[in-house]
Amino acid sequence: MSGSIRVVEVGPRDGLQNEASMRQLPLEELVEARLRFVTMLAEAGLDDVEAGAFVRSDRIPQMAGTDLLLQRLRAEQPKLWAKKRFWTLVPNHKGFELALAAGAKHISVFTATSDAFNLKNIQMTVEESLATLRPVVAEAQQAGVAVRGYVSTVWGCPYSGKVPAEKAKRVTEELLAMGVQEVSLGDTIGVATPQQVQEVLELIPTELPIAVHFHDTRGTAIANCLEAIQLGVSTVDSSAGGLGGCPYAKGASGNLATEDLLYMLQGMGYQTGVDLNKVCLASEYLEKELELNLPSRYFRAWKGSR
Ligand code: MG
Repeated sequence: MSGSIRVVEVGPRDGLQNEASMRQLPLEELVEARLRFVTMLAEAGLDDVEAGAFVRSDRIPQMAGTDLLLQRLRAEQPKLWAKKRFWTLVPNHKGFELALAAGAKHISVFTATSDAFNLKNIQMTVEESLATLRPVVAEAQQAGVAVRGYVSTVWGCPYSGKVPAEKAKRVTEELLAMGVQEVSLGDTIGVATPQQVQEVLELIPTELPIAVHFHDTRGTAIANCLEAIQLGVSTVDSSAGGLGGCPYAKGASGNLATEDLLYMLQGMGYQTGVDLNKVCLASEYLEKELELNLPSRYFRAWKGSR
C-alpha cells in the first residue's frame, strides 16, 4: 500500500458538540481549552481542523464563542492560521455572516439524503435545504471562502431507515454543482458495512472531491474507511480520541477516532503527515480538561503503556 491520505480532524466541532457529559466551563475557559486543543491538533500535522460552529449557543453551548476562538487563533497562531485550514460549520445564512465577521476562510455546510432527518434536524426537506444553501455557497465563493459540504444519513436514517444510494449521488452532485469544493459522505448513525460503502462509491466516482465520515457506533468505521480508501477515496474525516458520542444511540460511540485511523494508515505505509503521538497528547489534554473518557482504542493503549 502507498499513497497519501488527507485526514480531516473534526473532533473540536463534530466531536465536542456531541459530548453531553463534558465538564461545563465558563465561556472564557471553554474557548481557552478549545483553542489549545485545536492548536495542538494543527501542530501535530493535521492540515484540516474543524474548529467550531456558528450555531445557537443556547442549543449547543459547547460551540459558544467560536468567533472568539477564530479571532484568537488568527492573532496568536499566525503561522498556523496562514497554512492550515480551520473549518467552521454554518447552518444557514446567519451563521455564514457570523463566520465571515469572525474572519473564517473555510466553512462547512450540511444537508442529508433523508427528508425525515432534515425535517427533524433543521425543519426543511432536502430540496429546501439545498435551496437555502445555494446563496450561502455563492456568497462564500465571492468572498473567497472555501466551502465543504456534509451529507448526513448516506447509509441510513434514524427516522426512516435505509436510504437508497442514489440519493447520496444526487445530493453530492447538487452540492458540487452549486460550488461546494468537497463533499463529505456521512454515516450519521454508524450502520454501514464495507459492502454498503462499495454500493455508494460505485455510484459516486472517487475521482470527485469526496471524503468519507464514518461513525463507529457498531464497530465498522475503520473497516468502512479502509474499503473507501481501497476504492480510491483519499480524504477521511475523524475525531481525536474518538470524541463525540452518538446522539441516536445513548452511550454508544460516534466518530471514528483519529488515532485509530492513523495507526492503521501508517502501519500500511500510507503517508498522512501527522504525528500520532502528538494527536494523543492533544486528546490527553482535552480529556483531562473536560473530564472526559475518550474511547479511541489506540489512545487508550497509548495511555496504558506510558
Ligand atoms: Mg460525525
